[in-house]
Amino acid sequence: MSATVRSFNPANPADLVIEVPAPGAFGAAAAVERARAAQPGWLAAGAAARSAALGRAAEAVEAHAEELAALAGREVGKPLGEARGEVARTVAILRYYAQAPYAASGAVHETAAGQGLLLTRRRPYGVAGLITPWNFPFAIPVWKAAPALAVGNTVALKPAPEATACALRLAELLALPEDVLTVLPGGAEEGAAVVSAADIVSFTGSTGTGQAVIRTATERSVPVQAEMGGLNAAIVLPDADIEQAAAQLAFAIAGYAGQKCTATSRVIAVGDALEPLRAALGKALAAAGADSGPVISEAARERLTGAIASAVEGSAELLAGGQLPQRDGWFIEPTLLARVPAGHPLLAEEFFGPVAVLLGAADLDEAIALANATRHNLSASVHTRELDVALAAADRLDAGMIRINAPSSGVDFHLPFGGAKAASYGSREQGQAALDFYTASRTVSLLPAGGA
Ligand code: NAD
Repeated sequence: MSATVRSFNPANPADLVIEVPAPGAFGAAAAVERARAAQPGWLAAGAAARSAALGRAAEAVEAHAEELAALAGREVGKPLGEARGEVARTVAILRYYAQAPYAASGAVHETAAGQGLLLTRRRPYGVAGLITPWNFPFAIPVWKAAPALAVGNTVALKPAPEATACALRLAELLALPEDVLTVLPGGAEEGAAVVSAADIVSFTGSTGTGQAVIRTATERSVPVQAEMGGLNAAIVLPDADIEQAAAQLAFAIAGYAGQKCTATSRVIAVGDALEPLRAALGKALAAAGADSGPVISEAARERLTGAIASAVEGSAELLAGGQLPQRDGWFIEPTLLARVPAGHPLLAEEFFGPVAVLLGAADLDEAIALANATRHNLSASVHTRELDVALAAADRLDAGMIRINAPSSGVDFHLPFGGAKAASYGSREQGQAALDFYTASRTVSLLPAGGA
């Protein structure tokens, strides 16, 4: 008997957004088999057909942008402005990859001996098993599915249970041929079944789950990429425009209630930047409060309040927030803490909420050492007017994405996306990197018939 997947509105937990049956492990494996059977036809349909399908998908998503943004607001608590931005990005990703089927799929090389020709050709793997989180319920499924489909794979998408309605509506709008893109509602059971059956795996989610997915896929010797949690740092130099930095940091800490893998959770003020930044950031976070949205669940909020309480019981000083607003839903005020005791979990783990720690550093060297003192370096930001300082910091920071005078969250949709150390495994997502990931290279030697 299959279980049921249900998702609730985090701003109004009494609102059941969707309830659907989950296929279970057996049903998920069967869906991957159907996707495998559909793959040769999808590849054989040709570049024009795949390009047109992705182009039509972009039109459909764009035509339903307001509906989708509202659904993300209801199901995963995304503020409307951010939800609209995510839908626009989804459309842009589809348009970008709609061009990809026409790109060269290989190259011609000289043979070493001089006779004949060598061809390299890139070919799809078969079924791409995509496992996605709830926080970008349209953009992440599409930034995986669109390149996979463009190059001729079919897709089995296992969305996070919290974003089930978004995934099912997205798939309706994409309107691809039967079994070319299948959404499998469910949780760990269906996810594990997809990872155990797909020909190539792309995962985004928390670090622990990602590591389990990597283990299973590598044991099966199928290609796998995983984008996981971040513990991202922002470095503010004394010469920075402190008001601008505070506004950008408030967005990076509190935007979408801190539930972006690229959110800032550690702010490192260098030297004389500390005092003005304390004041400016505290004020900016207090102002950000109402707009940042709820966190995804009661459990997520309890984990945050527990961490804040234990830090304050230690030596920490509460510079902003820390309270639960008097309203329905899983809201928590954007929070800034200073003097958090060394070794506290807030300095070591991703909490995925609107909470950040302010640290002081004597100079840039100490700031870089603090920023790099984690294995979860996804993105980082540096705030300074000095170009040489910015470039030196960008060189020395362990992070996949480094942003100068900009929030740590956000990167253009056509550039490689991914982290450093334990934040990321395998090749990058987005842009050309994704097209390379979803294809394998084969070398074809063409020699003259009857040659020596
Ligand atoms: P999660 O790890 O709980 O779940 C992610 C997905 O994995 C879901 O679809 C889930 O059902 C599935 N899953 C769970 N157990 C599984 C298993 N054993 N095998 C296969 N699949 C399994 O993460 P979440 O709460 O949905 O998302 C939040 C996390 O995602 C945060 O840690 C955040 O940093 C991370 N994230 C990372 C990026 C990035 O690009 N680095 C982007 C967005 C979110």
